[in-house]
Amino acid sequence: MAAEILCSFKGCARPAVYTQHCGDRSLCRKHFLQSVERRVARTVRRFGLLEKGDSIAAAVSGGKDSVSLLHLLKPLCDSMRIPLIAILVDEGITGYRDGARKVAEENCKTLGVPLHVRSFKEEAGFSMDEIAGKKGRGKACSYCGVFRRWILNRAARELGANKLATGHNLDDLAQTVLMNIMRNEPSRLARFGPNGGVAEDERFVRRIKPLNGIPEREVALYAVLMEEGIEFGECPYAGEAFRGGVRDFLNETEEEYPGTKAGIGNSFESIRGLLADAFAKVEKPRRCKECGEPSSSEICKACGMRRELEGLEVG
Ligand code: SF4
Ligand code: ZN
Repeated sequence: MAAEILCSFKGCARPAVYTQHCGDRSLCRKHFLQSVERRVARTVRRFGLLEKGDSIAAAVSGGKDSVSLLHLLKPLCDSMRIPLIAILVDEGITGYRDGARKVAEENCKTLGVPLHVRSFKEEAGFSMDEIAGKKGRGKACSYCGVFRRWILNRAARELGANKLATGHNLDDLAQTVLMNIMRNEPSRLARFGPNGGVAEDERFVRRIKPLNGIPEREVALYAVLMEEGIEFGECPYAGEAFRGGVRDFLNETEEEYPGTKAGIGNSFESIRGLLADAFAKVEKPRRCKECGEPSSSEICKACGMRRELEGLEVG
């Protein structure tokens, strides 16, 4: 029988629940949770993600990333007397979002975080099921991402939040950095990061990403150990081919060369300031003529998509 792996934390002899990919460190339940919490607190401090006087809205989907984000943010916000609310955007995906919504509701209740729900149908006029049934439409995930960001920004602002926290983890960060480089979109990259998305418009709610330094598999384990009740189901419309390909490539590379994702994250961090300076003046946010939300063109992407969908027949 193989010898049991023990926690490498000094003075701890409990069985390990996790061995870090790079660095050979094994941790028991208590020290693993502590390690995640400490790294998130460090990211928050390093990038000034929480400041006195803030009012935070967390985007919660009911998945592992966003629910763990809530568990990690709540004590940090409490210690600074910062109000925290959660916003769930219900896309209207039968059999998928319902279970996740329940998980979000239960975790919000346990943590004492008020939950506000907005739906695609009410805000954008179409549920994702209806969008998926349209003839000649583009990729489902494109509509979904645009409408979700549009609804979240407006809801957060209307609810009085000055920052919107999302559960993007290290894997998401590494994928997005690579995708933007591969698509030759450095200006988008310049707006990215743990406190990215800053635009000079008071209608734009600043995004913060406290989990940016935590690998996806650690967020997943955190969710399991915290008994968040997460269901690991997949959306029936999933399949953004490009991101999926980049994800597989990064996972394989990480397996062979541990530390790859963290390396991309750290490299990005060291050039982020330069990118931000280089592209700072290019983006002058305007207001969408239809909905009044910040937009880089006359009509924002969400309103453009709404118009497009109105003109498409059900297939
Ligand atoms: Fe939306 Fe695509 Fe995610 Fe499904 S997989 S919830 S369609 S972004
Ligand atoms: Zn608009």
